[in-house]
Amino acid sequence: MDTEHSPGGPLSEAVQQALAGVMDPELRRPITELGMVESVIVSAEGHVDLAVLLTIAGCPLRDTITKDSERALLAVPGVTGVTVTLNVMDQAQRDALKEKLRGAGGQRGIPFNEPDSLTKVFAVASGKGGVGKSSVTVNLACSLAAQGLRVGIVDADVYGFSVPGLMGITQTPTRVDDMILPPVAYGVKVISIGMFVTGNQPVAWRGPMLHRALEQFLTDVYFGDLDVLFLDLPPGTGDIAISVAQLLPTAEILVVTTPQAAAADVAERAGAIATQTGQKVAGVIENMSYLEMPDGGRMELFGSGGGAVLTQRLSAAVGTTVPLLGQIPLDIQLREGGDTGVPIVIGQPGTPAAAALSGIAGSLAAKPRGLAGLKLGLQPR
Ligand code: ADP
Repeated sequence: MDTEHSPGGPLSEAVQQALAGVMDPELRRPITELGMVESVIVSAEGHVDLAVLLTIAGCPLRDTITKDSERALLAVPGVTGVTVTLNVMDQAQRDALKEKLRGAGGQRGIPFNEPDSLTKVFAVASGKGGVGKSSVTVNLACSLAAQGLRVGIVDADVYGFSVPGLMGITQTPTRVDDMILPPVAYGVKVISIGMFVTGNQPVAWRGPMLHRALEQFLTDVYFGDLDVLFLDLPPGTGDIAISVAQLLPTAEILVVTTPQAAAADVAERAGAIATQTGQKVAGVIENMSYLEMPDGGRMELFGSGGGAVLTQRLSAAVGTTVPLLGQIPLDIQLREGGDTGVPIVIGQPGTPAAAALSGIAGSLAAKPRGLAGLKLGLQPR
């Protein structure tokens, strides 16, 4: 007899549909697609017994998955109660999941270098520390994610990692065997060396280790399909900038500077490295441009014109026009947002600083992906 609650009946189907809307918080794909639904039993009274398979036993987001499943199921008319049981995938199930994510054979290159990758990669550089490079990176990423884009950040500022703090991330990445799942905040997938060291320990690594760490972030961390990936580089022109050029030849460089002439001088060196690596300079962002006064006037605390001068010099150095993408005012709320882990484009989107950052993000989203370094797959006839 075909009752309402038999498999394939209307309530069972509605329950399946509701589950298809439950996302794994790290993988950002429906749990039904990921093989995470072990079993669903709908009783005659409308009670749903759901068994979910977690990727690993200590999954830090088990509560999120439980709550999201309960909420989705209880919203289905006819469902009277929900019991969620959490189990853990066995090796075969994990292998199947990894294959689903990485493709058959478990591709292990840097996905952003695949000829069919549509991810725009921006390496954010600065001449010196403290000009707001990380704050700018985080806000651009959050702004693009809020616009619906799929965004990731690799915090490659190994000695001065600050991205997790700026985004309020305390969770450590989940490991599924050799695959690392990046924590997600404000829709942005983030990986940072800061998630692999305990406490506030300094990272005392040299060139080859940094290269290996960056390579591992780019190969072992599962970002999935991204529209935009940001790399927050260490200040200056160190080993990491060279590694990025080698590991991600299509990465375009964004240079953050202050209006100060001296800052523009050192930023020029960071940007001009592109002439040696053959990378494109996507543009210059001037931060801390001015402080808006209560009377509406602007106080130029760090002078003026640094961004414009830098674009001229970089244009001359690289031989193409390097645009000034925007000028971000000084704003206490920007600093406070960083301190509390709520980026200003999320917490105070109406401020002039947030508007400037969102404007820059919009212009990056509109840029066509460069073809430099891409293999076009042409074959001689
Ligand atoms: P970097 O990554 O270049 O070292 P940070 O992003 O860490 O720089 O910024 C350095 C400090 O300046 C942080 O305390 C940050 O909150 C603050 N800051 C950056 N940009 C602004 C701005 N436009 N207005 C106010 N404070 C800012």
